[in-house]
Amino acid sequence: MRSSPGRSNPSKQFPSIFNDVIGPVMIGPSSSHTAASVRIGRLLRERAGGTPRHVHFRFDRHSSIAATYRAQAADLGLLAGLLGYETHSPEIVDAHALAGAAGLDYGFEVADIGPGHPNTYYAEIDGVQYRALSTGGGMVELYDCSGQALPTDQVLPVRDQTIPSVPFTTAAEIADSELPLWELALQYESARGSMAPGQVLAKMQEIVSLLERSLATNLPPDAAEGHLQRILPNQAGLLEGKTLLGGEFSRKVLYYVTRFMDIKTSMGVFAAAPTAGSAGCLPGVVFALAQRRAEAFLAAGLVGVLIAHKSTFAAEVCGCQAECGAGSGMAAAAAAQVLGCDTKTCLAAASLALQNTFGMVCDPVANRVEVPCLGKNVMAAWNAIAAANMAASGFREVIGLDETIAAMDAVGRAIPRELRCTGEGGLSTTPTALALLRRTS
Ligand code: SF4
Repeated sequence: MRSSPGRSNPSKQFPSIFNDVIGPVMIGPSSSHTAASVRIGRLLRERAGGTPRHVHFRFDRHSSIAATYRAQAADLGLLAGLLGYETHSPEIVDAHALAGAAGLDYGFEVADIGPGHPNTYYAEIDGVQYRALSTGGGMVELYDCSGQALPTDQVLPVRDQTIPSVPFTTAAEIADSELPLWELALQYESARGSMAPGQVLAKMQEIVSLLERSLATNLPPDAAEGHLQRILPNQAGLLEGKTLLGGEFSRKVLYYVTRFMDIKTSMGVFAAAPTAGSAGCLPGVVFALAQRRAEAFLAAGLVGVLIAHKSTFAAEVCGCQAECGAGSGMAAAAAAQVLGCDTKTCLAAASLALQNTFGMVCDPVANRVEVPCLGKNVMAAWNAIAAANMAASGFREVIGLDETIAAMDAVGRAIPRELRCTGEGGLSTTPTALALLRRTS
């Protein structure tokens, strides 16, 4: 067992499947902007002892959050959190009106503050200063004006109140295990969250049931009229009656990935996996395979833990390889498990999939998490299926998962800032994207 030496934020050292990887259960376009903002708002509300009277948020002009806080609904998230709502509350979309009705005096300002984490929120709440970070996939950190870290676990599914011990933190430690990957995931999360294995499985089953309910819910018919002035109408319906390459399985993969992205963009309820931007790839693959879904998500979740332990899910830090790339590696392990592969082979599948995603940039059009995000999720899903088939056939990954994750992190941090969700490069700065940005701002 590995024990935390008592860091202020155990999640950083020992990520949790439910805190850091599968979830949050949420609505909104972005886990690191919408859901994280709800959590930051809730934490600030707690500090204020209820709904505050005056709040003012500032973002550095060159940060990712400055470019995206409106389009990716960080403003809605902050206000909803300050009013006490959850990451999946439908009231998020009406947060401006609700804040006004509650008498909350609020403001958002983009200013020259200086370098820092690309998702840094500077907040003044009834005269008290705080600094908050969104560190990817909905995870947050909060600091007081002296730089002291404040607890954040009260807004997480798995509380950090006990200093956790975990049985392993690397792929190398489990590669030769005779247990299937999902059972190792149960073992890990059970230790990490002080829960019985049966509770972990039940918690994952709840997420699967939630996704099933979301799939069965009708989406608003027209995209462009939505709260966030979408770019794309719902796309999954376009597949009806079309002849596609690859037969029924191919259709299912494309349908489920697309449908989950449609749900996300329609402000429906979904689970970030590992992020909202990559909410199509892993759930799409798991639902297309249609077998033992909770076990598949657990296997994927454990690969996500290994990634989070050494790297990040924040596109603002490591580009889209941290979102769709990570989702693809996780989905590859889940798919290999469905094929009946042992843990070593599932980990090889994850490594093969990740190796193909190095260097993916984050350049969303008009700051919406729609284009090229849908296509990248579809690509990531097929990459996962190819990697699972390769690993199951005995293809060697050559570079093991631990080394691949370390190399992936180094590559991600070398991606230019303009291509890490700042809207300053790639597709974001094409004439068409700029015109869309003007139209939708
Ligand atoms: S390009 Fe990738 S990382 Fe960037 S917003 Fe889209 S899905 Fe997220």
